[in-house]
Amino acid sequence: MSRFDRLTLDSLEDVEESTALVRVDYNVPLDDGEVLDDTRIRASLETLNELLEAGCSLVLMSHLGRPGGSHDEELSLEPVAERLQELLGTSVGMARDVVGNSATRLTQAIEPGEVVLLENLRFHSGEKQNDDEFARSLAGFGHFYVNDAFGACHRAHASIAGVPRYCEPALAGRLVEREVRELSRVRDNPNRPLACLMGGAKLGDKLPVVEHFLDQADEVLVGGAMAYTFAVAEGGSVGDSLVDEDFIDDARRILDNREQYQANLTLPDDTVITPTANPGSEVEECDANDIPDGWEGMDIGPRTREHFREVVEDVNMVFWNGPLGVFEMEQFAGGTRALIETLADIDAEVIVGGGDSASAVAREDRTEDFRHVSTGGGASLRLVSGGDLPGLEALDPIS
Ligand code: AMP
Repeated sequence: MSRFDRLTLDSLEDVEESTALVRVDYNVPLDDGEVLDDTRIRASLETLNELLEAGCSLVLMSHLGRPGGSHDEELSLEPVAERLQELLGTSVGMARDVVGNSATRLTQAIEPGEVVLLENLRFHSGEKQNDDEFARSLAGFGHFYVNDAFGACHRAHASIAGVPRYCEPALAGRLVEREVRELSRVRDNPNRPLACLMGGAKLGDKLPVVEHFLDQADEVLVGGAMAYTFAVAEGGSVGDSLVDEDFIDDARRILDNREQYQANLTLPDDTVITPTANPGSEVEECDANDIPDGWEGMDIGPRTREHFREVVEDVNMVFWNGPLGVFEMEQFAGGTRALIETLADIDAEVIVGGGDSASAVAREDRTEDFRHVSTGGGASLRLVSGGDLPGLEALDPIS
C-alpha cells in the first residue's frame, strides 16, 4: 500500500479550545435552495466530528459552483449549512460573506464545539486567483488548517494552496487521507490485471488519462461520447454524434500505436442512436462506426455491454470514470446502469473516479458495493494518472 506522506489528524496534540480552519468540498448539486445530493457533506463528517470531539471549534470554507468572483444569492452555501446542521446535530453559524464583517464577527466569537461556515469562497475573486492577501485573511480565522476537500485538491486556489502557507500545522483530513490511499493504489500498486474504463465527454481531460493507462494498465475500455472521436479517427461514420474535432489527431495517433501499448484497447462495437436527443424520442441500435446521417449516438449498445463485461470479468482491479451514455435521460442510461451492475457483480476491486460516475452509482444505490467511490472527479483523474495535486503539495510532509 502506498504511504501517505502528509501529516494527518493523527499528529494533532493539545488542540482543545483551538479553532480548526477546515477546507471542505461542499460543491453539491442544488435545486431551488435544496441540496439534491449530500454525499460530499456526509463525507466530511468523520473529520468534523473528530475535531469537535478533540475540543476544537470549526471554521469551514468551501466553494459552490461558478459564481465568477462576486456574490450570487443562488450559489449561497446557506442550504448547505442547513443540511450540515441536521447531519452534525449541532448548530452551524452561516457567515454572510467570505472575509468581511460577518465572517470576522462570527469567527472571533466562536466557542469550542461551535461551527461556522464561511460564505462561498468563489464570491471573492481572490479564491481562484490564489491571491496572497485573501489567503492571509482566511488563515487568520483559525489556529491550524485541515484540508478535507479532496475534490478541489487539483486546483491551486487560495483556500487550497495559499492558506496552508500561513497556518501551522497544515494537515490532511480523514477523507483526503482515504481518497489518496485508495487512488494511489491504482497508480502505484494495482492488483493486476488492471482495467481502466473511461467514458464521458471531456476529451481534453480524459485523453491524457487514457494514454497513461494504455502504458500502465492491462485493459483500457472507452465508451461515452469520447468513443465517437475515436470512431471518426478510424474512418467511421458517426452521424450527428458529439465529436471533439480538436482531438481527432490524438485519437488517430493512439489508434496507430495500438500494438505498442501495454494495455489492450477496447472500443464500442455498437451504439444506441436517436434522431432527436430528447426524453421519449425514437431509439435504434447500430454499429458504432456506422451511424446514419441525422442520428446521434447516445449510449453503448447491448453487444458492447456484453463485450465490456467479458473484459472486466477477467481482471482484479478496475478504475472507472465517466458515464457510458447520456445517463441523465432514462432511455440512454442503460449502458451505464449495465456497467454498474457488472462492476458490482465481479470479484475485482472497483474504484470509481468521482464526478458523474459517482452520481450514477449513488442513483443505483450501489455505493456500498464498491471498494472506493471518490468524491472528486478531476482530482481523482489527476491522482491516478500521476499528475500533481497542489492541495496535497501544500500540506506539511511527514518528516
Ligand atoms: P464528463 O464530464 O467528461 O465525465 O462527461 C459527462 C457527460 O458526458 C455526461 O453529462 C453525459 O451525458 C455525457 N455523455 C456520455 N455519453 C454521451 C454521448 N454518447 N453523447 C453525448 N454526451 C454523452
